[in-house]
Amino acid sequence: MSATIEPRTALRWDYAPAPESRDAASLKPRYDLFIDGEFTAPRDGSREPTINPATEEPLAEVAYAGPGDVARAVEAARAAAPGWQALPALERGKYLFRIARLIQERARELAVVESLDGGKPIRESRDIDIPLAAAHFFSYAGWADKLSYAFAGRAFEPRGVVGQIVPWNFPLLMAAWKLAPALACGNTAVLKPAETTPLTALLLAEICQEAELPGGVVNIVTGDGSAGAELVRGDVDKVAFTGSTAVGKEIQRALAGRGTGLTLELGGKSANIVFEDAALDQAVEGIIEGIFFNQGHVCCAGSRLLLQESVAEEIVRKLWARMERLRVGDPLDKNTDVGAINSAAQLARIEELVLEGEREGATRRSITCALPETGYWFPPTLFLDVAPANRIAVEEIFGPVVSVTTFRTPKEAIERANNSAYGLAAGVWTDNGAKAFEVAGALRAGVVWQNTYNRFDPTAAFGGYKESGFGREGGPSGLLPYVRLT
Ligand code: NDP
Repeated sequence: MSATIEPRTALRWDYAPAPESRDAASLKPRYDLFIDGEFTAPRDGSREPTINPATEEPLAEVAYAGPGDVARAVEAARAAAPGWQALPALERGKYLFRIARLIQERARELAVVESLDGGKPIRESRDIDIPLAAAHFFSYAGWADKLSYAFAGRAFEPRGVVGQIVPWNFPLLMAAWKLAPALACGNTAVLKPAETTPLTALLLAEICQEAELPGGVVNIVTGDGSAGAELVRGDVDKVAFTGSTAVGKEIQRALAGRGTGLTLELGGKSANIVFEDAALDQAVEGIIEGIFFNQGHVCCAGSRLLLQESVAEEIVRKLWARMERLRVGDPLDKNTDVGAINSAAQLARIEELVLEGEREGATRRSITCALPETGYWFPPTLFLDVAPANRIAVEEIFGPVVSVTTFRTPKEAIERANNSAYGLAAGVWTDNGAKAFEVAGALRAGVVWQNTYNRFDPTAAFGGYKESGFGREGGPSGLLPYVRLT
């Protein structure tokens, strides 16, 4: 009797859907501007829907501030400034603590809304964006009455009214990065969220009300780029901007000669460098985290992968195997690794640059996966055979696309990494501590991660060199732009 031998088959592991409940987010049909502690209809603006980029469905109608609305918000901030500055620092700190606690209390709702409005996986908004936003308020709440330690005993005063413009990739987190240090230093603020992701900033406005923050200390004017430009032209004492290098330069030109403070956190094309002596499997996880976190919509994304020649083939093989297991799809599903692209405009930009990469002769490999029929999606992609001058190796793609090049020596790795108009971040993977510090020290980047990537902490400074901008956010360095040393 001959035994039947079953052919060996690859083990298939299917995930059951694990959707987070949308009910955690009870969105209102329409949202007004938040000025002087109240929600108020736009007077010379308009209203537009904000949509879910995963489905293209409208989520709510949002006010678009006109020039007069922006001016009203700045006036409210101006009027609130003396009272806020006069409060004992400890009291200001208490408001920040309250806001932090309320963010924690409403964390689930905030995470769901962030994923609905922006397209990022719920795992990221739940475990990274929202807890970090609370952590920034907690951290700066602690600093509010200890500012003299941040400025080495120098006397200081708040700048006054600050205008803050944030992008769509980390909507609530960027609002927290900007508002928490400004308020701790005694400034009042007008915040302009991005057009495609206004909702969590508006929930933060509700939180400011719940925390009984005095009216006018935080004002939130939703709208498009013209509201941002109007805020820059307004009667503000400092502007803090995070976004594209092109708009950053425009703002710098608009403020030239006005004596208004300015910090710019702009784009990047960060190098993630892997040496042959690195723990390769760990490095592969870091590469994945570096470029596919938040669909690559990350200013410090490790979008230029530099591999030491001796291990390049092995890493690409392992990386590709790992990429093929990434789950792209519903942002509200807890199994999702890569969510929706934030907008049709951003998808078009990614597609254009990827096509350009192919035209310029690089080899494209995109994973094959079923993408939803509606919404904006792009599969995780890597480019091989990339020349350093190719547009995909030079320009910020801001999507799930990594370009791979190789190097032979640490000197060559440093030269290649620094050969960029940007200087925001970098990663160094090696088991040799001396090499790690030597290379990190030679990189012209504001943040250098060693054997990890995309780790953020409210106590650490973040910011760039060259076309990545200037000024630092986070930690004690993040307080400095919000005061005048006297
Ligand atoms: P923008 O720089 O246009 O947007 C950032 C913020 O600035 C938004 O709130 C935007 O408003 C506002 N804004 C737009 N125009 C002006 C203006 N003239 N004056 C003042 N504020 C303005 O980025 P995009 O959304 O157009 O993205 C384009 C590219 O920029 C991306 O592909 C990416 O490469 C890069 N980028 C980098 C970011 C980073 O974190 N460094 C973040 C976002 C984008 P609104 O959204 O209403 O237009």
